[in-house]
Amino acid sequence: MSVGGVDTVALARQYGTPLYVMSEDEIRRVCRSYVDSFQKFYHGNGRPIYASKAFCCKEMCRIAFSEGLDLEVVSGGELYTALQAGIPGGNIHFQGNNKSVAELELAVSNHVGDIVVDNPSELEKLEKVAAAQGVIVPASLRVKPGIDAHTHEFIRTGQIDSKFGLDLVSGEAFTAAKRALELEHVKLIGLHCHIGSQIMEKEPFVHAAEVMLGLLHQIKQELGVELEHLNLGGGFGIHYTEQDDFIPYMEYMEAVSEKIHACCAKLGLQLPRIYIEPGRSVVGEAGVTLYTVGSIREIPQVRNYVAIDGGMFENPRYALYQSDYTCLVANKASLPADYTATIAGKCCESGDLIQEHTLIQRPEEGDILAVLSTGAYNYSMASNYNRNLRPPCVMVRNGESRVVIRGETYQDLLKNDE
Ligand SMILES: *Cc1c(COP(=O)(O)O)cnc(C)c1O
Repeated sequence: MSVGGVDTVALARQYGTPLYVMSEDEIRRVCRSYVDSFQKFYHGNGRPIYASKAFCCKEMCRIAFSEGLDLEVVSGGELYTALQAGIPGGNIHFQGNNKSVAELELAVSNHVGDIVVDNPSELEKLEKVAAAQGVIVPASLRVKPGIDAHTHEFIRTGQIDSKFGLDLVSGEAFTAAKRALELEHVKLIGLHCHIGSQIMEKEPFVHAAEVMLGLLHQIKQELGVELEHLNLGGGFGIHYTEQDDFIPYMEYMEAVSEKIHACCAKLGLQLPRIYIEPGRSVVGEAGVTLYTVGSIREIPQVRNYVAIDGGMFENPRYALYQSDYTCLVANKASLPADYTATIAGKCCESGDLIQEHTLIQRPEEGDILAVLSTGAYNYSMASNYNRNLRPPCVMVRNGESRVVIRGETYQDLLKNDE
């Protein structure tokens, strides 16, 4: 089995396991198709933003930006990473439902292009921070449009019962827009929504676009201001297994853009500058994690535990959401997958599993196990639980590999200990 023209078993031998492997070609291909879609459907009036929380490191920020994407960050740490990677503040969009004053100060002093305000109290905080620095900051409002996307409840964000954003239905979002327009140091530039993640259908996105344009129209009618930006968030589904069946990105873009063009014509609005904010779909399928198989425990009539040298400390997604993954034995990839395995991590938790009852090639200790589609929300969710070391990440391109994140060492674990 190979990634980006490089044999995975050779990668495992060269860098050790566990190992995150990312195909740079695949990441760049997806970035380009997103940029191209804005030419096709909006005549370039808008751009994709890479939601860096899916996989955030300096090199990934540089790759996304070099392909023409802006960067979205949700914390001071992600903001700092993007700035250190050389991304201009003006190309950074700052999200998050509870930004601290220190984080707002960091964003304002670095001239972040769009601070997406989540709630009324944050709006007042931002005004104070901007006033103290004597600047006017561009900001938009995170709106919850009241849409239930059919996805896991932990990654659903557009419905009324959500910790994110200003409620549209009750009028909270409109009131916040009114308030923002009164503020001296905040320049309201647009509206934002993000309805969830790993969404397989296009209807919720089309509906969200329509609802958001309705609010844009109401703000124009009643407050006399036509906002110029509309950010429709991310959330496009990817393949974790063959069962994942979602509409191709271009079909989603086409359907949403048709709705936007039609609504703008009907409501007498200028076409706003459109943004989308994909994270998972930019990097998810580009990633593979490699492990070495350790002990195998076959419990008759129960299950076969296949232990690996990773686990929830480097991929907590199964433990968090029972996420599906495709697993295979990389050095036996051509053999039939007829062995039912539960892939177990090395953490001291029974729930530390990567997948249950999944079909793989019959494994032996020392084999290389590959888990596919691990590019998103794996490294970025990793921890040092049990004082395990976060693995390195290598990017492969044209048959060559290079380290973009070094693996941690035991000394790294102690660097903040007194
Ligand atoms: C997480 C997030 C995204 C990206 O979502 P994906 O499902 O990874 O595409 C975009 N926008 C906001 C505000 C987010 O919180």
